[in-house]
Amino acid sequence: MASGMTHPKVGILGGGQLARMLALSGAPLGLRFLVMDNVTDACAGQFAPMVVGDYRDEAALTEFASKVDVATFDFENVPAESAHWLSDRVTVFPNPRALAIAQDRLAEKTLFVELGIPVPPFAAIDTREQLGAALDRIGTPCILKTRRLGYDGKGQASVAPGEDVAAAWERIGALPAILEGRIAFALELSALVVRGPAGELAFYDCPHNTHADGILRRSVVPSGLPEADLARARDIAGTIAAALDYVGVLAVEMFYLGTEAAPEDRLMVNEIAPRVHNSGHWTIEACAISQFENHMRAVAGWPLGSAERHSDAEMVNLIGKEALDWPRLAAEPGACLHLYGKRDARPGRKMGHVTRLFAKTADRV
Ligand code: AMP
Repeated sequence: MASGMTHPKVGILGGGQLARMLALSGAPLGLRFLVMDNVTDACAGQFAPMVVGDYRDEAALTEFASKVDVATFDFENVPAESAHWLSDRVTVFPNPRALAIAQDRLAEKTLFVELGIPVPPFAAIDTREQLGAALDRIGTPCILKTRRLGYDGKGQASVAPGEDVAAAWERIGALPAILEGRIAFALELSALVVRGPAGELAFYDCPHNTHADGILRRSVVPSGLPEADLARARDIAGTIAAALDYVGVLAVEMFYLGTEAAPEDRLMVNEIAPRVHNSGHWTIEACAISQFENHMRAVAGWPLGSAERHSDAEMVNLIGKEALDWPRLAAEPGACLHLYGKRDARPGRKMGHVTRLFAKTADRV
């Protein structure tokens, strides 16, 4: 224990842009931070103290645990065993079980089914022999996704009608996977909920998200969806957070099938992210209390802040070389530019984002 829990020292596992924005949001509250990452140039380490070490390195974890009161994540693929090890020494929010479930596509889908939450049809694949029966059941087009360590479209292979599912399985490394029906959705949205230790909930407005090549490009609020469907999205997110006894911000990524579908069939959950989420970056400027600050408040045991949105907003990611356009964005009146301080603008790398605010229009009903 590093200090009392009123102003706890918050340890963040993973030192990317989410840790950077968490530390930035917690600084005005007087919270202090320690980041742990396995690379020396992690972008949160530019202004938060850092322990450099592998997430499985007990010496590094011991140092980290000795200096923080509560640990949280910027990165969901921290080994679940390390999260368990830490939870014997410090408070860990969200809890290791929530992290472990979010790391495994089969475990998360199984949970959603148990909770009565619609998901795309899926089948578990452990061996090549299971591919044929799974394909017969799910049909094409479909997507093979590795159970673990997939993000931003990585570890995925599409299977079109007539295509060889075994070849697709080879492409994802012949790893344990799920075969999932491809959903002809109308749009994608995410529900962003923050849950405090006593179970209190606050919901951000659900953004309409646009992806390209499996990577989020743009999030827009309001989404334009009917209020009843947004209420259902919030309800789904709250149900998942409660089932996981979750503390902090949870993002639930969903497919919206459109108003032609029956109300109870309009939303399907794709996956959860057990952390603050890229589709919530607009909350920094468009809400009094951002997702980052509310995550800090939740893990510190403080009262949650208002998640209400005071402006319409669009957030556009700057991916790879797009960030080199920053001088033009910096000169654009009203554009809120965020650059994450990463040196190499590698293809597919999230380098920054820009948020634009607009006068709030009444949400369409
Ligand atoms: P994921 O890594 O599961 O979040 O997938 C990345 C993106 O791929 C999603 O945001 C969707 O745009 C697309 N995608 C994933 N699963 C499906 C699906 N079952 N049907 C249609 N599109 C999908």
